[in-house]
Amino acid sequence: MIPLPNRDLSPDATGCLKELQDDVNGEPSYAEQVARAKTIWKNKNSPARKPCFDHIGATLTEMCRGARRCAYCEDSLADEIEHIKPKDLYPESAFVWENYLYACGPCNVAKSNKFSVFKPDTEEPVLITRARNAPVVPPLKGEPLFIDPRREDPMEFMRIDVLGTFLMLPKGRKDSEDREERLRYLRAERTISDLKLESGTAGHLPLARKQAYRNFKTRLGEIIAMIEEGKDVTRDIDEFKAMDHRSVWIEIKRSRRALPDFEVLFQKHPESLNW
Ligand SMILES: [Zn+2]
Repeated sequence: MIPLPNRDLSPDATGCLKELQDDVNGEPSYAEQVARAKTIWKNKNSPARKPCFDHIGATLTEMCRGARRCAYCEDSLADEIEHIKPKDLYPESAFVWENYLYACGPCNVAKSNKFSVFKPDTEEPVLITRARNAPVVPPLKGEPLFIDPRREDPMEFMRIDVLGTFLMLPKGRKDSEDREERLRYLRAERTISDLKLESGTAGHLPLARKQAYRNFKTRLGEIIAMIEEGKDVTRDIDEFKAMDHRSVWIEIKRSRRALPDFEVLFQKHPESLNW
């Protein structure tokens, strides 16, 4: 999970979303707002709205890495507009551009209509969700646990064990004396568990990350060799930057002192640390 670049929508799409959100906000009660948001969402591909959501899809595609990889797992094709704050719980964010990203089906299912917040003035995570047929009442207000890759850098909260298991894990310590560190740990722990990011919905991510690790090593070595031969590698570097599982590359750079094969390459060509 890595931060997403920012993109602005066209004025038309911005206006379209505002109109839809105003429509939802105009409902007199929270329950009616939830119902309205769901109805509009279900009909978002109606002829009048399709151009707007096509543009949103195209813009979200531009924000994806590589071959339209999912913003959460970085592994699968992103083909569903995901609400970072679920529309069933937060209808006031159902048609807000900053609340969207492109995710894959399995990540979307894993997250579903879950969101977690800290119980106010505590370090206690509270899972916000709504079972089928449960009363539609506003959720508890509180600071979110879920890490928002449109606003935050998830890799400041998480790490990958590139020395062994290739699991995605929270950074820092849960029992740290530093309150900030404890809160960040809790946020990473909850985000990883909500998305099943530790090893993926099918336990497939450690292998995918390990393969990415090997690809980074091979490709880095090849490009540095080409540089030493005086070749133009502009395109190769651009392609390197778009390689899958960027989080693995970020972790390789952070952990390079413990990765002698990489450290040798970084010392040969320190600029590669900026790739
Ligand atoms: Zn995914």
